[in-house]
Amino acid sequence: MYDTLIVGGQYPNFDTGKLERAEIALKEGKIAAILPAGECPQATKVIDATGMVVSPGFIDMHMHEEEFKDGSHSYDIAEYMARQGVTTCLAGNCGQQNHRLADFKAILADNGGAPVNYIMLAGYNSLREEEGLGWYEAIGPDKQAKVLDKLKEELEEGAWGLSFGLEYSPGISAQEMTQAVQAVKGYDPFVSIHFRADCEECMASLQEMAQLSRDTGCRVQVSHLSSLAGTAHNMPQSLDFLAGEIEKNPLLGYDTYPYCAFSTGIGTAVFDMDWREKWGVDYDIILLLHEPYAGQRCTKELYEKVRRETPEAHVVAFAMDEESIRAAIAHPAGLLGSDGGITDGTGHPRCAGTFPRILGKYVREEKALTLMEALDKMTRRAARRIGLPTKGQIREGMDADLVIFDPDTISDGATFTDITLPNRGIEAVLVSGVVTVEGSTLTGALPGRFLSRKG
Ligand SMILES: [Zn+2]
Repeated sequence: MYDTLIVGGQYPNFDTGKLERAEIALKEGKIAAILPAGECPQATKVIDATGMVVSPGFIDMHMHEEEFKDGSHSYDIAEYMARQGVTTCLAGNCGQQNHRLADFKAILADNGGAPVNYIMLAGYNSLREEEGLGWYEAIGPDKQAKVLDKLKEELEEGAWGLSFGLEYSPGISAQEMTQAVQAVKGYDPFVSIHFRADCEECMASLQEMAQLSRDTGCRVQVSHLSSLAGTAHNMPQSLDFLAGEIEKNPLLGYDTYPYCAFSTGIGTAVFDMDWREKWGVDYDIILLLHEPYAGQRCTKELYEKVRRETPEAHVVAFAMDEESIRAAIAHPAGLLGSDGGITDGTGHPRCAGTFPRILGKYVREEKALTLMEALDKMTRRAARRIGLPTKGQIREGMDADLVIFDPDTISDGATFTDITLPNRGIEAVLVSGVVTVEGSTLTGALPGRFLSRKG
């Protein structure tokens, strides 16, 4: 007797490289059996997946976790993630960690779980700021010792590694970064890096990240290549460089998201320099997301007012070209991530539509990559990259994290002016065998857990 039987669907068999018809039986949160088509053993619940793909749940390589504010412990970004088929997220990116891990774990436990599984990185910028260091300030030995102590605490709490946001805190030198990674090297950390600078400094930024991996022998992930190499037509040479480096050093990797616009706080160091000249654009590339300006493009006056009055407000900047975005998604060396985040209910549509958008726009419509290639990046390869042996494949004994979708209709709904619009073609999402999403509706179940590096 199985808990759940998923009948009529096709699943990606990465060993044969094909979608294959099978009935998939689940028990106690695991994939218990992959049965020949037509076999129908007894199960408590049967899900009809006729005409659908039954895929391992999508693994988001680059996400930003909830910021629980004002005593609220409700999920926002995690719910958007679940509705697009994501079952596991790698969060704590870009150097930013919204909560120390002991606190974050306590909130998740208090909530009785989460809509998705969380894997967390320690945000180096956040730990540095806790010690009172300014964005442009170099670190001294006393404060460095304190930051490294905190970093080790986070690794002991179960962080899978650490992240840097070099563009946000230019005061972090290459040497400081290398010393931080060396200090926790014994944990085999996964290191993700938001680049130092784009445009003319794009290639030097890539070199710096590749060098860190070579010097430390640690996995280094170039975060959201789209926003680094998409702003000044640097993508072809960036992809050539990365492919060559990764061939020599497979510890290096990158992820990317499927939109021509990035998003960040209007008061961050990203906008400190003359960005209009750097990107060859004007103020109107910036779209405001928060009230009372939601949906408005900037003028000089509006930009200066918002930056002065609400520097924490997240904005969208249409600064990249479509060809670069497509090339980064399709390149065999890369993986995929949303870079999704929500601030006070607002955000970039990538938080809600990244995975359906790749499968709809880039796989089905533009044929930039095949369905099997995209699913491999979203599941098996992501799991291997992070180090999740029980996730990312449909095999007996693997975790029953699944997404059932219609390959003919899957597409993103969220837009730059309304992130709440539902995706199309997602039929169901399961985490540990428990249904979290039916259609575009959350069931309210919270089977997601904090996945600790230390087990
Ligand atoms: Zn970033």
